[in-house]
Amino acid sequence: MVNLLTQHQKLDKELQVAIRQVIDSSSFIKGKEVAQFEHALAAYMQVGHVIGCANGTDALQIALMALGLQPDDEVIVPAFTYVATAEVIALLGLVPVMVDVEESTFNISLQGIENAITSRTKAIIPVHLFGQCSDMEPLMQLAEAHNLWVIEDNAQSLGASFTYQDGSSKMAGTIGHIGCTSFFPTKNLGCMGDGGALMTNDPALAEKIRMIANHGQRKKYYHEVVGCNSRLDTLQAAILNVKLPHLGEYLDARKTVGDSYQKALEQFKFGSLPVSLPVSPPTYNQFTLKIKDGRRDQLQEYLAKHGIPSMIYYPLPLYKQEAFRKYVPEGFSLPVTEKLCQSVLSLPIHTEMNEVELTFIIDTILQFTNKNSLPSALADEKLG
Ligand SMILES: *Cc1c(COP(=O)(O)O)cnc(C)c1O
Repeated sequence: MVNLLTQHQKLDKELQVAIRQVIDSSSFIKGKEVAQFEHALAAYMQVGHVIGCANGTDALQIALMALGLQPDDEVIVPAFTYVATAEVIALLGLVPVMVDVEESTFNISLQGIENAITSRTKAIIPVHLFGQCSDMEPLMQLAEAHNLWVIEDNAQSLGASFTYQDGSSKMAGTIGHIGCTSFFPTKNLGCMGDGGALMTNDPALAEKIRMIANHGQRKKYYHEVVGCNSRLDTLQAAILNVKLPHLGEYLDARKTVGDSYQKALEQFKFGSLPVSLPVSPPTYNQFTLKIKDGRRDQLQEYLAKHGIPSMIYYPLPLYKQEAFRKYVPEGFSLPVTEKLCQSVLSLPIHTEMNEVELTFIIDTILQFTNKNSLPSALADEKLG
């Protein structure tokens, strides 16, 4: 699905130097590379404050802690997302309220949010899924009208942007009150282990976030609030300092692959391709097909038979996960989420994909559609 080896080989010398410097300084926690990276990312995203932390899941948890939410407060999340988004809500004794997503974009439904708001709702966590920003302009208006916090789960869409009706634009993660991202190796900007960050334009929130991520202290051994231990390692920050200047190239490379899939699969008979909205062009952290008529698993098998990996993100709605059943009534179901879990298939997409690999994947998919379009007896024979 990804090729991190080649990506890193291209930067091998610089990475070796950066890592060596950290070893020589032996400043493994809160070394100068961490602040350097925070400033560089803030400049890239044009946001007031970036605070590194240990991973994207922690970023979401710290964001909720910084907003001072109380047990039983409700937080609205899409039901079609990675578990981390809802996990941290439950972990803090808050209530995840799961709503449906838009079939076209995979992102949270505004109507769904509106229907789910109660007097106990305190926050919304839109997830910018698969590399594309949620519909943030009306979402922020809705949040403002109901006095709700907005935390963006931007783990999959670092570098994506959103354009407002007046033509101005902002980067995903800098639109809500707090943005959260992840540097897990397969994200748009990956480190060599776990890493994450929060971003905000609110200086008071930034200070609180920094304090919470560091045991609730501003001054060493003086703990003002209950916090946690969640810091971006100096080594990971040093690696990210080498890679951040290449994020633009990485996004371009993903776009090239995404555009090639779009063009070659334009006539794809068995489903639909990801949409590319002018207001939030995809950064293609994933390239996810929707496949009709129960053919998804067949295609996945066919690709696997030809040595092509593919993934189902995500096979089960959050509310059907054992861990989250208690938050929904028996038989709870969201139609679009259900449908997507049955039909999505993500193809390999990454920064190092070459023409040969891409052509092979596309040809194999077209072979599958052609063979399956034949009368069934013939198809069985051919596919056999
Ligand atoms: C990856 C991811 C996270 C969590 O990031 P980690 O760094 O792995 O903890 C959270 N939300 C979404 C949507 C993700 O894809």
